[in-house]
Amino acid sequence: MTLPDALALSPSRLPDGEAAFFGSDVYRRHATPAGVFRPTSVEDLRAIVLAAAEAGLAIHTRGGGVSYTDAHLPRRADSVVIDSSGLDRIVSLNETDMTVTVEPGISWKALDDALAPRGLKVPFVGTFSGLAASVGGTMSQNANGHGSNANGISADSVVALEVLLPDGTFVRTGTTGSQASRGRFRNYGPDLAGLFLGDSGALGIKTAITLKLLRRKPAHETASFTFPDFAALHGCMSAIAGMKIEEKSFGLDLALSQGQIAKQDTGTMLSVARGVWQSSPSALAGARSLLRMAAAGRRVLASAPYAAHYIADGYSAIEARAKIDAIRKVALGFGREIANSVPTVVRAMPFQPLHNMLGPAGERWVPLHGLLPHSRVAAFHAAFTSYVDGKRAEMDRKGAYIGAMFSSIGAGTFLYEPALYWKDALTPYHERMMEPGYLAGLPRYAENPDGAALVEEIRTEIIGLMHAHGAGHFQVGKLYPYTRERDEGALTLLRAVKAQVDPKGLLNPGALGI
Ligand SMILES: Cc1cc2nc3c(=O)[nH]c(=O)nc-3n(C[C@H](O)[C@H](O)[C@H](O)COP(=O)(O)OP(=O)(O)OC[C@H]3O[C@@H](n4cnc5c(N)ncnc54)[C@H](O)[C@@H]3O)c2cc1C
Repeated sequence: MTLPDALALSPSRLPDGEAAFFGSDVYRRHATPAGVFRPTSVEDLRAIVLAAAEAGLAIHTRGGGVSYTDAHLPRRADSVVIDSSGLDRIVSLNETDMTVTVEPGISWKALDDALAPRGLKVPFVGTFSGLAASVGGTMSQNANGHGSNANGISADSVVALEVLLPDGTFVRTGTTGSQASRGRFRNYGPDLAGLFLGDSGALGIKTAITLKLLRRKPAHETASFTFPDFAALHGCMSAIAGMKIEEKSFGLDLALSQGQIAKQDTGTMLSVARGVWQSSPSALAGARSLLRMAAAGRRVLASAPYAAHYIADGYSAIEARAKIDAIRKVALGFGREIANSVPTVVRAMPFQPLHNMLGPAGERWVPLHGLLPHSRVAAFHAAFTSYVDGKRAEMDRKGAYIGAMFSSIGAGTFLYEPALYWKDALTPYHERMMEPGYLAGLPRYAENPDGAALVEEIRTEIIGLMHAHGAGHFQVGKLYPYTRERDEGALTLLRAVKAQVDPKGLLNPGALGI
């Protein structure tokens, strides 16, 4: 379609050849947008939004573009994508009031790199994808990540938001919404920031995000355990979650232990070894970690069906060790301790290259997840296992397999995160997002439409199974059934808010299902 002049001539417009990439995520593409824009100032962004709204074009904001729930994907051609990566500055940092305000496109890694030399960090440090994932995108999704076990999910780190609406109005939340107030806290009256957190970009475009700051803890310890079955893994993770003691923990089944996070190619291992050395509080601890990593590798992980990995931070080595000792005491009631190579690697390099966007042998990858109360986990796991067993023969035939990762969210919720893999051709998205040197070392596969169709069928059916077991979801995007069976009062309120902030329905149509 032809863009109006205000957009066609915008200096922030990217070449047309970029449109297909910016209309894709790691899983798929629906439509190619009419234009892609990379503003470098909030004023530019506002001008683009006003022109697009005037022309009746759908507006999709993209952060790092590493979500996989159709979240930022246009579904029709009369749309524009706004790439927020040009809005990546730290606007202000206040070490007295302990807040940092950032533009939405800054990545978690860039933010952490800027805070580390000052001995500071944000409580939610970022996602595993934080090399690319942006603060704005993550806040629009809700995420579990580094620091979440100690400090909560992404939304829990927010003090205030500045949000741009399609008519050019800015909404500022909490104390920042009052010109009289110099305060820096979120809960001044109703929690308006909360309205926009996890909105999948359906309610506005975040232009500034103010986050809490914490002092970094210089010491850390890690530990890993294997378990004979899922019940033991879950028992251990839920018992430790109630203690709220670790910085980060996660469980893996055998498929993921052998691939994904536990897998390290030689190049990554070398940079990880450097990172472990640098991040270890003492040279001796660094040497010990490296030796353990070399000796243990994947061998031990492959010996048990489930593993859990723990990272504890402390202001002193004694504090970190005491935390890991407390974790160990509980974990040994459920499983046995193994070498701590996986959490050591994760702690040393929280933001690794995005190699996990493919399986260990170059397979295509798409994850999904459900948030379940601990009381419902066993029933869901039984139903999930039986469903997967029923599909196993067809998956084998069509070159697909499934693994799962697990996390605790607060004391009461369990994040069950299956990941599907299948042998298929890569897309231009992979070629652009992943390192060419890494891709060159992986096998390539021919187009596999049967495998892809099976994966889509399984993904849809597992989401149905999760819904039937009462699961909730982060990263709703355009995938998870947020509105299904939702209380009428809540839905009416949300639709009224949408009608108020976006009366023409131009902001990321389809997101949240509203
Ligand atoms: C290898 C890998 C590892 C991952 N690890 C994790 C993990 O540890 N934890 C986790 O929770 N997720 C993880 N993810 C999923 C994903 O990376 C996260 O959800 C991440 O937070 C997405 O951020 P993004 O900037 O890429 O958002 P995008 O994909 O660009 O966008 C996500 C949503 O936010 C909206 N949006 C973006 N910017 C704005 C804005 N300024 N204003 C309003 N709306 C906006 C978009 O329209 C879209 O709806 C992982 C993904 C990959 C590929």
